[in-house]
Amino acid sequence: MKKYIVICMQLFLFGIFAQESGQLQTQIRHTIDEIRAFVAIPNDALDAADINRNITWLTQKFSARGFNTTVLPTEGKPLFFAALPISDEKPTLLFYMHFDGQSVDPGKWEQPNPYEVVLRAPVSSGWEDRSFDELQDSIPPDWRLYGRSTADDKGPIVMFLNAIDLLKKNKQALPFNVKLILDGEEERGSNPLPKAVRQYRELLEADYLVINDGPVHASGLPTVIYGCRGITSLSLTTYGPVKPQHSGHYGNYAPNPAFQLSRLLAGMKDNNGKVRIPGYYNGITIDEETRAVLRSVPDDVAKINAFL
Ligand SMILES: [Zn+2]
Repeated sequence: MKKYIVICMQLFLFGIFAQESGQLQTQIRHTIDEIRAFVAIPNDALDAADINRNITWLTQKFSARGFNTTVLPTEGKPLFFAALPISDEKPTLLFYMHFDGQSVDPGKWEQPNPYEVVLRAPVSSGWEDRSFDELQDSIPPDWRLYGRSTADDKGPIVMFLNAIDLLKKNKQALPFNVKLILDGEEERGSNPLPKAVRQYRELLEADYLVINDGPVHASGLPTVIYGCRGITSLSLTTYGPVKPQHSGHYGNYAPNPAFQLSRLLAGMKDNNGKVRIPGYYNGITIDEETRAVLRSVPDDVAKINAFL
């Protein structure tokens, strides 16, 4: 990728447009129906047949919107790729989303079938089931859909499709080339993805990467996050005596690997969460403009803490 900008984005159609037009209302209703149909296809990342059925659905839906689609084999589950016709003059946006979900334990769900979307409205005691027929005239923005992957991450895929519909209906030309890579085993760690990204480098080439996956901000406002935290995994071995020590004999004298490890872990951050590893923040600067944006985020600490 020429420029590597990662954006975590959670755009809710309900929030994007302050004034709902009739056209938007109709599209949201269509979006809800399409989410229900998509969620109805089980998507356990452990089940190859599930993943293939989802890919069939995606192929139909993206093809119907004028995308060229292809299935990319990997060492694990295949990836789904789609792109609108490419123009050399335009910059290219690559979207990443995932269509697999975690395994379900129906007993832990407050609905008979996690793959059958349930509509609920907030009431003083929690949430109350409502009929989809009630959405004919208006769609209350505080009602919610419940079902496996409804939000994470099938919802964003369906919203993307319907946003494309709206742009087309309003004859809005896209100033970008649009490509998508949809992951079929994100919930299992996306293990084949790094190798596949190298393998399909040319196909995936883009100027910007947009990730539509992640929690909505506590304020409920549409959220664009410029940058994601990465992850590094490693194995640490701490050493101690060659055989177990009786606490009353040499147990305190011999180094205890558990304490060595605890000291090491505890020493990595101070009480405010600042990393204490020398050099960790080298090369990182935040300019005043960025700080001003960060300060403007309407964080409600009490609300966040209550949620955590
Ligand atoms: Zn996700």
